This record gives sequence, C-alpha cells and structure tokens, in this order.
Amino acid sequence: MRRFGLLAAGLILLTAVGAYAGVRKDDGTTGSIPAGAGNVSAPPWSGQSGASGDPTMTADAIRAAAANFHRCLDGLWPAASRRKVSRETFVEATRHLTPDLRIMDLMDAQPEFTKSFWDYLDILVTDQRIDDGRALLDRYARTFDAVEKAYGVDRYTLTAIWGVETNYGTLGGHRPVLRSTATLACVGRRQAYFRNEFLATLEILQHKDVPESELVGSWAGAFGPTQFMPTAFQRYAVDFDGDGRRDVVGSVPDMLASTANNLKKDGWVTGQTWGYEVVVPATFDFRLADRQRWMPISDWMRLGIVRAGGRSFPNPSARAYLMVPAGVQGPGFLMLENFRVIMRYNPAEAYALAIGHLADRLRGGGPLVQHWPRYERVLTRAERFELQEHLVRQGYDIGEPDGHVGGRTRAAIRDFQARLGQVPDGFASSQLLQELRAR
Ligand code: CA
Repeated sequence: MRRFGLLAAGLILLTAVGAYAGVRKDDGTTGSIPAGAGNVSAPPWSGQSGASGDPTMTADAIRAAAANFHRCLDGLWPAASRRKVSRETFVEATRHLTPDLRIMDLMDAQPEFTKSFWDYLDILVTDQRIDDGRALLDRYARTFDAVEKAYGVDRYTLTAIWGVETNYGTLGGHRPVLRSTATLACVGRRQAYFRNEFLATLEILQHKDVPESELVGSWAGAFGPTQFMPTAFQRYAVDFDGDGRRDVVGSVPDMLASTANNLKKDGWVTGQTWGYEVVVPATFDFRLADRQRWMPISDWMRLGIVRAGGRSFPNPSARAYLMVPAGVQGPGFLMLENFRVIMRYNPAEAYALAIGHLADRLRGGGPLVQHWPRYERVLTRAERFELQEHLVRQGYDIGEPDGHVGGRTRAAIRDFQARLGQVPDGFASSQLLQELRAR
C-alpha cells in the first residue's frame, strides 16, 4: 500500500461540510481523509485526549511526548546519518522545529458522518473539474505524450489523480512536511511508521529534490499535486525533465512521470481501462459480488451482467470482479486489474471509483447511466457499529465490530437478508438496521 490510509486530499473540502476525518489503515473498503490539512493557522491543539483510546493519545501522554520532542528527534540522528543525511542538514532541519500538536486532534478525530459513494462522486467529479482537466490535457499534451510512451499509463488516469487528490494542485494543504512528520514521529500512536516518513523527508532535503519552502501538504505529510508521502517519493519519483532534481511539486513533467511510474510499478496494465458500469439483474446471486472472485467478463455476461448503456465490452476475456456499492438499488461495476492498482495508490473504493469515472469523463465519456439510491440515508459510524453488534448477536462471525462495513460484515448482511426473503445484496441500509433492532 502506497500510503498511510489517506483518502484524497482533494476531499479536504469535505471537512468543510462536516465530513469524515481521521487516519486509519484498513481493509480498503473505506478510506480516511486528512482533515483541515490546508490550514496552518487552524486552531491550536484542543488539549483533549484523542478519541482512539490509544494510551499514547491521552492528553497527558501527548504533553509528555511534546516535552521530550527534541530529545526524540536527536535520537533519530544515527538513523538519519546511516541514510547519508549530513549533520549540517540534520541540525538545520531540526533545531527550530516545534511539534504541531493540532495534528493529534486531526489524527484522532472520530468521524461522525460517512459520505455515500454518490456524494463522493458528486463532489469529486464535477463539470468544473472535467473542464479544468481537459484544459490541462491540452496544455501539457506533449508532456503526456512522452509520459505515456515511457510508462504506459494513460493521460486521463494521471489527470484524474491530479484532479481528485488536490483539484489540480489547488487543495494540497500547507503544513510543512518536515514539521508534520517530525511531530508524528515523536508524538502519538503511529510513531514507528512516521519515523520512516520523517527520515525520508530529511533525505529529500539533503538531495534538494524539492525546496523546503515547497515541501508542504496534508497533516500526514503527503505533498505535491498528486500527494506523495515521503517514502513513496523515495520509491517512485523520477527526474523526467532532466534538471537533476526529482521535483514532484514544481515540475509538471516530474510530477506526471513520477505518478505514472508509481502506477506502473504497482502493476498497471497498459491499454486496459479500470472497469465498466454494468447492469446487474435483480435475480442475480449477489454473493458473487466479492473482491476475491475474479472471472473473465464473458463468464459474468453468462450470468446476466450487461454493460450499462447497451454498449459491448471491448475485451470479454479480461478478468474482473463485481462491485455493487449500493446493492440492488444502484449501479454495478466490473472492476479490472487497473482498479486494484488505483486502490494501491489510495486504498478506498469510493476514491478509486472517482478516479476511474473522472478519467472516463476526461476521455469524453458521459455520466453514469444508472441512478444511485439517493433516498437512502447512509448510516453513521455509530449506526454501523450498532448494526455489527446486532449481527454478532445473531450469531455471525464478523470479527470485532469496528464501524466499517467490510467483506465479512457484507457477507453476514447478505445471509441475514436471504433469511428475510430479501435480495441479498449486502447493502447496509437504515431499513436493515431497523429490522435487526426489531429482532
Ligand atoms: Ca526534474
């Protein structure tokens, strides 16, 4: 997985409407969003204990870690030295640093709402974003030609990542990456993970790939128009314009080529799309809609799946799995290998679908053909937690309830729906919660 469970920084704007905040590494059915990442002059740390219940996130533990901040950073010098960071770079980078404790609030925020798939798509795939993307495709046409030739990743997908992650570089956040990663390396519940990110940040400064003034981004340290984490930068960034620096912030050729290189190394299949909107018959056996079940498209067709809009599948032998995010009431999607590659870039299905759909729109495709069940209220996290508790009480083994509807929860829902004589589509609706409550 490329990053620390971040959902697109382009979704930062969601926080303005009271959306979902927090960082979590999970099974990929949900993602998390860097909240308020764009606002350095945001309120100071609340002084409250975090919501995660983790012992390193109590207010006292945060204060103690903050008091120990410089001793902690000094303790990282030997590891930095082993990475060929000079003493001069290290001292210069760390001596005036203070911890940004506001990040602790953002890291541990409890999401109150979760957006539905249709809300994500409405926010991320707008006419404005399509127009802006097409303008960039024109403006950088020659760069895209060269990047496609070198990496085999199509320009529409790259532009869609650029658009979804940061609205083409306009919503990437302004927190200094050095300060954010240093804070997270020494305070809070993910220190081991972020030590690596902090050390990678020092290496970037040592090599002068990106000027420190431009090394700014989300509170978790993702930076640049396509939101590289420092360690992802180390793995994937390339110098495509040949000036000797891998500048994924200031150089569009470097940024696009580095993003393409990332997808290529993650397994991108050249010439193939991400997937297709499909129509799933109501009589379909929805238990087959499972991320583990890969079959040739021709097999799906035999089971009654057709492409939306009456079009044909260009390559029926390609293998795909079926996703029905809103159950029988919404559109289905056959997902090809490249959808999985996009999920490696950022492990959230709604994110990856937004990338795929925006790419199609940039290419000239139309909106989705089928309607979403917009009348469905999406369950809050507390309600999803409650739903899982009811399922456990009904005897289902879904693991520890965590408020996230993943594969096992969906399987339990399908079974419960079948017992009620409903279409077993696995969708966690408010109706279903009511029926579980009544038991
Ligand atoms: Ca360069």
